[in-house]
Amino acid sequence: MAKTYAMVIGGQSVETKETFEVKNPSTGEIVGLAPNAKLVDLDAAVAAAAAAFETWSQKSDEDIQAACEEVTAKIAEHSEELAQLITLEQGKPLNGLGSRWEMGGAGAWAGYTSGLSLPMKVLQDNNEGQVELHRKPLGVVGSITPWNFPVMIAIWHMMPALRTGNTVVIKPSPYTPLSTIRLVEIMNEVLPAGVVNCVTGSDGAESIGAGMSSHPDIKKIVFTGSIGTGEKVARSAAETMKRMTLELGGNDAGIVLPDVDPAQIAEGLFWGGFINNGQTCAAMKRLYVHEDVYDEVCEHLVAFAKNIPLGDGMSEDVILGPVQNQMQFNKVKELVDAAKDKGRVLLGGEPGEGLFFPPTIVADLENDDALVREEQFGPALPIIKYSHVDDAIAQANQSENGLGGSVWSQDIEKAKEVASKMQCGSVWINKHGAIQPNAPFGGVKKSGIGVEFGEEGLQEYTDIQVIFS
Ligand code: NAP
Repeated sequence: MAKTYAMVIGGQSVETKETFEVKNPSTGEIVGLAPNAKLVDLDAAVAAAAAAFETWSQKSDEDIQAACEEVTAKIAEHSEELAQLITLEQGKPLNGLGSRWEMGGAGAWAGYTSGLSLPMKVLQDNNEGQVELHRKPLGVVGSITPWNFPVMIAIWHMMPALRTGNTVVIKPSPYTPLSTIRLVEIMNEVLPAGVVNCVTGSDGAESIGAGMSSHPDIKKIVFTGSIGTGEKVARSAAETMKRMTLELGGNDAGIVLPDVDPAQIAEGLFWGGFINNGQTCAAMKRLYVHEDVYDEVCEHLVAFAKNIPLGDGMSEDVILGPVQNQMQFNKVKELVDAAKDKGRVLLGGEPGEGLFFPPTIVADLENDDALVREEQFGPALPIIKYSHVDDAIAQANQSENGLGGSVWSQDIEKAKEVASKMQCGSVWINKHGAIQPNAPFGGVKKSGIGVEFGEEGLQEYTDIQVIFS
């Protein structure tokens, strides 16, 4: 019998009449039953968070920091349990850049964020008076998280909110709600009741996500997901003048310059594109390769990719799992099918059993082919040949997205020069997608608003108050 999970509201487990099934993408088996919340449940969670805010926001900075450190310790204590749950509901393997790696990231971000602080700044102190800049918490923060990194992204949203004195209502993706519920239960072992609440629902008549973005008592929404839903969040947030951090994915380009050693970069190129099966906001989703090294880069990339063990993520030998859900699988299949007529399939191309789709590499595509133009968010990498680097940069920039990008070269100064011309929030040299907790991360253009991580990310959970005396 699959376990029935409950929401966490005001420090209590709260069951719902209705539940929905959460399935293992590797096997189709039911992992657990998640609460199907109604808008009244959301109201209860927001009320609990608002009540908790009254005391949580008044705690000293040291006390809040200590509580965040306790949360970090709890996450470490339950790391393997959460990793197993992530693998069961998300599909990513325990090993490789899978769920244990995700839990490592969650712990690292929680720890680093706990140690940050935003002390009062004196802007002026002279005969004319003193001017102080204070950072104040906002109130209840609504977090809407996606299904690709359910625990790590929940930590990215919740820890800076808590660290700055806010309280949280989190709503995970209906595809992967169970690890978030468990994470919030664990956090509630050390946090005061109501500081972190979790409400889950599946898409139905009552969209909890939509309810959150229009809720008058939620003061900020932090959302990671698609551009389309991000636009809806922004529209409803305008009515209540909510603060927002929107991380809306990308169509990251990698540009390979002619001076690379193709054998040396193959592994980095592969994981840049195929981390989490390509279901990663800042994965490399288009690869532009100079004609001088084109054939060799393709050859080495395929040679590396074809040895990657794919299968049920609970097996210790596997390092790539299935696509997470049918919607995403269909999208990848459709884009790959369309690309077959336009380019040359070097690897993969045909779906496997169930939701398994092997790493697929399609060469000789053009910039306006759908697999290049659209965010595939799956295990299919298009390769485009170029002759002049300025053309590659122009093609890379021809996108409404602007999250990340990468440049591959032995000449770091040349690579930096190319990087500076790319329209995106992060550019990596000789790697792709290597985010870290001390470096602000966010998108330009339609890839989002605001940044996460570091001091700049923390500031987004505060309003400024200036006191003149
Ligand atoms: P999505 O449509 O972007 O987001 C679904 C989430 O948004 C659900 O939690 C839903 O809540 C909530 N939502 C729906 N309407 C809302 C509104 N008006 N205001 C606030 N929240 C609202 O994600 P998806 O359907 O799972 O994936 C679609 C695409 O998103 C993928 O193909 C991929 O390209 C992209 N994606 C990006 C990332 C990333 O890391 N940037 C991650 C996952 C997916 P309810 O269920 O309550 O309606």
